[in-house]
Amino acid sequence: MQSYSLFAPAKINLHLEIIGHRPDGYHELVMIMQSVNLGDVIHLRANGKDEIRLFCQNPEVPLNNTNLAYKAAHLMQQQFPKLAQNFGGFDIVIEKNIPVAAGLAGGSTNAAAVLVGINLMWSLGLTQPELRDLGALLGSDVPFCISGGTAIATGRGEQIEPLPDLSDIWVILAKYSNLSVSTPWAYNSYREQFNHLYISDSQGINQRTHQVHSGDLVKAISQRNSEQIGALLYNDLEKVVLPEFTTVKALIDAFNAENVLGSMMSGSGPTVFALCDNQNQAEAIANKVQKTINDSNLHCWVAQMCTHGIIKQS
Ligand code: ATP
Repeated sequence: MQSYSLFAPAKINLHLEIIGHRPDGYHELVMIMQSVNLGDVIHLRANGKDEIRLFCQNPEVPLNNTNLAYKAAHLMQQQFPKLAQNFGGFDIVIEKNIPVAAGLAGGSTNAAAVLVGINLMWSLGLTQPELRDLGALLGSDVPFCISGGTAIATGRGEQIEPLPDLSDIWVILAKYSNLSVSTPWAYNSYREQFNHLYISDSQGINQRTHQVHSGDLVKAISQRNSEQIGALLYNDLEKVVLPEFTTVKALIDAFNAENVLGSMMSGSGPTVFALCDNQNQAEAIANKVQKTINDSNLHCWVAQMCTHGIIKQS
């Protein structure tokens, strides 16, 4: 049986809006998601044993059944028990390039890669929508990570509608290695402070979702108007994260003081991204901001928006 290597891109949010509270305890969200070509590589191999084994060079990544890549392999074994019995378990090697616990969907994109990889390895012929449905059982960001590109995500984040691709825009990603923001803390703090603004009726939720669909950012994306895209970035979670994490706010300000198209926190942070029109400019600004802030914990990456989710490496 063949082994597979898959490229698993990180994501950023160009728009993250919390519109309500769901009966299942999650938040009702409208997001515009974007894949970037900073990614992990997942090597997947049938091991003929009765176990799923994980390997990763980054000690922050758990190597047990809490790892989302493990959960994805286990889910496929449960869904297709005969194949699991015939072919046994997997060795999964995660080459981790995406910063961990950074708001970049690192774990989710690893899970997405494992679903896509096992679909190929076992010749299941599952379609992208079928894979996305399985992904939704693992986490809200997994369905987007499967197909990637540019998309609107609604519901918990698991309902995906593709938007026209963006790929000419360059992205600086910046994160303090000694800083992490707990995603549940960010969402719970938002609920505590802003639940009086929540919409609870389905008509109101549909209306709000529709406003984003027909809104200015989607128009700017359709026109590939990078200046407008940069000007229209939006993330509700900044309202609770930035007052608590002033260094993250200062980082956004430092990028905005340069000639970037726009800068914002990704997801629940603490990664900050800044959009630029070309690679040279992105690299120059990343260097300049690193020099200005002069903190050895601050790391920057320069990536490009990409038009795909999980892809098989040749
Ligand atoms: P999201 O943007 O989807 O909220 P994130 O980018 O903030 O995710 P991850 O990189 O997925 O966060 O890491 C969050 C936690 O998940 C980590 O602290 C780690 O313990 C755990 N984790 C489980 N599986 C993985 C994985 N494959 N890669 C990285 N972290 C993982």
